[in-house]
Formats: sequence, C-alpha cells, structure tokens
Amino acid sequence: MNCKPIYLIISFMILSFPVKAETVKICGTLAQGQIITGHAPNAKKVLIEGKDIKLTKDGKFIYAFSRDSELLNNLEIDYGSGETKNYILSISETKWDIQNLKGVEQKKVTPSKQDEKEIARERNDIRAAQNKTTENTFWEEVFSFPVEGRESGKFGGQRIMNGSRMNPHAGMDIAAMEGTPIKAPADGIITLSGQENYFYSGNVVVIDHGYNLYTIYAHILDTKVNAGNKVKKGDILGTVGKTGRVTGAHLHWGASLNDVRFDPKSLLKKDDLCINL
Ligand SMILES: [Zn+2]
Repeated sequence: MNCKPIYLIISFMILSFPVKAETVKICGTLAQGQIITGHAPNAKKVLIEGKDIKLTKDGKFIYAFSRDSELLNNLEIDYGSGETKNYILSISETKWDIQNLKGVEQKKVTPSKQDEKEIARERNDIRAAQNKTTENTFWEEVFSFPVEGRESGKFGGQRIMNGSRMNPHAGMDIAAMEGTPIKAPADGIITLSGQENYFYSGNVVVIDHGYNLYTIYAHILDTKVNAGNKVKKGDILGTVGKTGRVTGAHLHWGASLNDVRFDPKSLLKKDDLCINL
C-alpha cells in the first residue's frame, strides 16, 4: 500500500524536472529543398523522422529537407537514461518553377542504347564519389558562391526539354563566361575530378565537406584539381564550360546530404535565422 504513492511522486519528478533540460537551436530556412543546422549541446542522439542524425562532439548537426519532404517532421532529442524530448518541425511548401528548355541537342534528350552505357558510367562514378565521406566538419563553415553570375536555373524546377518532361533540376545553374574560374565555396576533400566528359554533366568535380555533405560542379571546361586533393575555400576547382548536356556556358552547382539533394544556395544561409525550441 505504501509503495504506490512513492512511485507516483518519482514519475512526476522525472517528467517535470528533466535533468539535462536545455535550449535546442535550429538555424536556416525550414522549407522543402533547404538545409538547416542544429545544436543540442547535451543530446546523446538526435532523430528526425526516425533517422539517427550524426552529431559533433558538442551536439551540432545538419539536416536537409528534400524537394518533396513531408511538411511536418518529428524531431526527437534523446538525452540518455530514458529522457527524451519531442518537437514537430513544421516546414513550408516550396513552389517549384517550370523550366522550359529549348534547343537542347535531341540526342541528349532521348539517349541511344549506346549512350545508356555512358550514362551508367556517369551515374556509377558520381555515386561512388558521394560515398567517401570523412569525419571532417568543413560543413560548419559559412559557404560562398563558387562563381559570380546570373542564376539561370533554379534548384527543383520541373524541366521540359524540347517539349519532353524530364526529372526535376538537381542543382542551380549560374551563367558565366566560358573560362571563368570556379572557386571552392568551403574547405573539403575532392572525391572526383577529371576530363571525363560525361553524357549529362560533362567534366565534373565533387567535394566532400564531411558528414556525407557533398557539393558537385558540372559542365566544366578544364578541371584543375585531382581526386584526393584537400581544397581550401576559394581554391580554383576548374573553369566554367559547356561540356555535357547544356544550351550554353554555365556552372551547374549541386549539393546533397545523405543522398538527399537540396538547393545549394541554402548552404549560404544555413546558419541564419535561428530559433530556440
Ligand atoms: Zn543545372
């Protein structure tokens, strides 16, 4: 008989006075196709939509919402010893552009059987280059644009090429003169580079910024780095070209985190607009 009230009081105290209560900070734009950073200093684990998120020693993390992400995302902070806190991250729906591209070489819109082999080589090489991540935390830096120029194609746009519906645009396009230097937007390790002249992407550079965050640079004229090189922010990766499937000289800049593609422009403001949960 005496045990019951004591049990109730203990339960009440655990629920009401969490031992390691803290402020969880989330920065960036909560919207489809955007990357955010977070900080939960005492967390043992952070889960978003049930997925375990990699944490730095001091509890920092990054997370990307896909182009078609659900609008309500469950965030669970696990402090160990059974103590958890749950939040709902409500994100905005993004209205995606329709990109009508005319004048693309027809053989690049409807590839031949022979071209399919080339496309498989491109897909395998790029996939392998995005499977070599490190424990570096270069992603904590503030990123900058790799090229100054006009944004000629937005991330996520539904592309219609010569009248045919294509996959959504996986990066942003920056129009610039052929030969313009492309600069690393943050430190990283090169995982792919060379004059491979892939079917879609032409000559490509891929950078690993740690924790499965990669950026990709396509349609390059001349690549100036090699796989395995460490680059510092501002180092020249290559020059703007029109290799692969293009209608003119531009840089295609893409980004992915844990295989989720997102708008690379959001890397420039991933630490802005912080909210405390
Ligand atoms: Zn593009």
